[in-house]
Amino acid sequence: MPAVKSLKDLFVNELKDLYHAEKQMTRSLPKMAKQVSNDTLKEHFEEHLKETEIQITRLEKVFEELDMSPKTKKCIGMEGIISEGNELLEEIEDPTVLDAAILAAAQKAEHYEISSYGTLATYAELLGMDDVAEMLRETLEEEKATDEKLTQLAESEINIEAKTEAGEEEEEE
Ligand code: FE
Ligand code: FE
Repeated sequence: MPAVKSLKDLFVNELKDLYHAEKQMTRSLPKMAKQVSNDTLKEHFEEHLKETEIQITRLEKVFEELDMSPKTKKCIGMEGIISEGNELLEEIEDPTVLDAAILAAAQKAEHYEISSYGTLATYAELLGMDDVAEMLRETLEEEKATDEKLTQLAESEINIEAKTEAGEEEEEE
């Protein structure tokens, strides 16, 4: 018998997946913060870790609204993003290239979350769960803001520093 029969079932499936994805992020963000050399990037990761913990509490409230106890479903998607990132890091020595790689991996994770929160919020609205939709949109905005901060830092500093070869002075115009 198929277990997912309705939009509500789809919603719950996605909710459990995201709950697991967020939990993985609380383990991954401190590791990334430790591995990077750029202080601003480190701060972004540390700030987002705090945000992520609040987001997890919000997801638990969503389960509560549904009269369910919080449950995870193994999020293979996020697991893949994280392990692919880790594999690559082992091949990198230059700290500025490492920062660029970690930043890019973090953005992939954020994009996964943005997609999931967007879908969940849309389903919640359709299902008449306005309070739930509002909570999900609040997190969605935080994820988007984090992604935007990372883009700005990548473009203004991190990628440029990675482009400069180790030991080489930045060219002056
Ligand atoms: Fe999150
Ligand atoms: Fe996030």
